[in-house]
Formats: sequence, C-alpha cells, structure tokens
Amino acid sequence: MLEVSNLHSAYGRIEVLKGVSLEVRTGEVVALIGSNGAGKTTLLRALSGVQPITGGEIRFFGTRIDRLSPHRRVERGVTQSPEGRQVFGPLSVEDNLRLGAYMRRDGEIESDRERVFAMFPVLREKRHLVAGGLSGGQQQMLAIGRALMGKPKLLLLDEPSLGLSPILVDQILAAIVALKASGITVLLVEQNATAALEIADRGYVLETGRIASTGAASVLLSDPKVKAAYLGAD
Ligand code: ATP
Repeated sequence: MLEVSNLHSAYGRIEVLKGVSLEVRTGEVVALIGSNGAGKTTLLRALSGVQPITGGEIRFFGTRIDRLSPHRRVERGVTQSPEGRQVFGPLSVEDNLRLGAYMRRDGEIESDRERVFAMFPVLREKRHLVAGGLSGGQQQMLAIGRALMGKPKLLLLDEPSLGLSPILVDQILAAIVALKASGITVLLVEQNATAALEIADRGYVLETGRIASTGAASVLLSDPKVKAAYLGAD
C-alpha cells in the first residue's frame, strides 16, 4: 500500500530523515518506535505532505504521492491524526467530526459518524459540547474520529496515547485494533513502544533519522537490543 524509499527531510541545514525506507501493507498495523528526536513525527508529516522532503519517494498503491499537496493525499486516502490536542476547541464535537468529512460528497457521512460514536461512546454523549472542554483523552478520541470521517485507507497516528491515563491508553489501543478490524491500515508512532508493538503486526525502529531495525512486532518485542533501548526494564 505505502512504499517509502530513501526519504530525506531537513529543517534548514539540519537533516532529520537520512534515507528512510519502509513499507506498510494493506490491512496492517505498523508501529514506528524510536527515541525522542529520532524523526518519527517528521516522517509522518512528510508522508501526509505538511513537511517538505529533500529526496526519496513515497508511493501509495504504486503511484508517487510525494509531490501532492496534503489535501490531495487525503483525497487518495492518506490521513494523519495529529499529535496531542489539535482539535478545533471552540467548535462542538459534532462540528469537528463534520470538518473531517469536508471533502466528501458521498452519502455515508451519517453512518460513518455513527461508527465513530460506536467506537467512542463518550463523543456521542458530548456531541453538542465544545471540543475545548473535553478531557485530553476525549480530545484524542475526537482527533482520531475526525481523521476517520475523511474515510482514510491509511491512517497515520502520531502519539495517540500521549499524556493519557493507563485506562484511556487501553481504550485508544483497543480502538486501533477495531480500526484494523474494520479494514483501515494504520501507521502508528508511539513513545509507548511496548504497547504499540503489542497491537502491531510489524514494527520499525527509527534512530536519528535512519531505520535501525525492523521485523515482526513479536520479534522486536523480544529482541534484547530493542528491549534495552526502547521497551524499558521488564
Ligand atoms: P518526539 O517523540 O520527541 O516527537 P520524534 O522522533 O517525533 O520525537 P521529530 O519531532 O521528528 O522527532 O524531530 C526530529 C528532530 O528534528 C529533532 O532533533 C527536533 O529537534 C528537530 N525538529 C523538529 N521540528 C523542528 C522544527 N520545526 N524546526 C527545527 N527542528 C525541528
């Protein structure tokens, strides 16, 4: 589905992605892990088109998308749900979801909103309230829900568990598993590497702008080097 080859990206003269290659196959959840500053967010932003690249190629279903605007990439089915609380605070939950569907002209918007509400019931309860009044976890759910309203084929998730309590982290992870079951492919960036690999099919370890390791999630989970560097003591 997604093939990234030899991707480079820089902030001014500082190169942050130094030749990243990876692939995501249809139906997979792929975890991207790595330390702070490794370039994970930059990579997702390059895939969604908001971060310029200085070299390499991004192919989606075989077609190059690296010169398309973010908007055109969303139309093709590549959608990023941003890190943190980037929902539209003054707007209601419902209006935030509606904005996620702004490019669609099909008749399934209502039923997709119902699916989001089924996945995150608290959003249904609070549909008429302003997004800015939601808790951090609820805003994260709303950010994912908004991305889903664009009918993505590939969902790019940046740190969906950031700042959430363990119960909410579990809820978000369960939602990602449900997304996969509903046919959405996911590329997941997570600080919480163990949790990410536990729900992923495969993983990539990004180290200072390069892929240092890759494999089946279960293999990475038991890899001593990965364990020592990213999975904490256990
Ligand atoms: P984190 O988990 O901390 O978000 P990350 O792996 O997502 O880390 P990036 O946010 O992609 O890493 O950052 C990679 C490097 O690029 C870091 O050294 C960071 O300081 C630098 N960087 C990120 N954004 C900018 C920016 N807008 N301008 C300049 N440098 C930046």
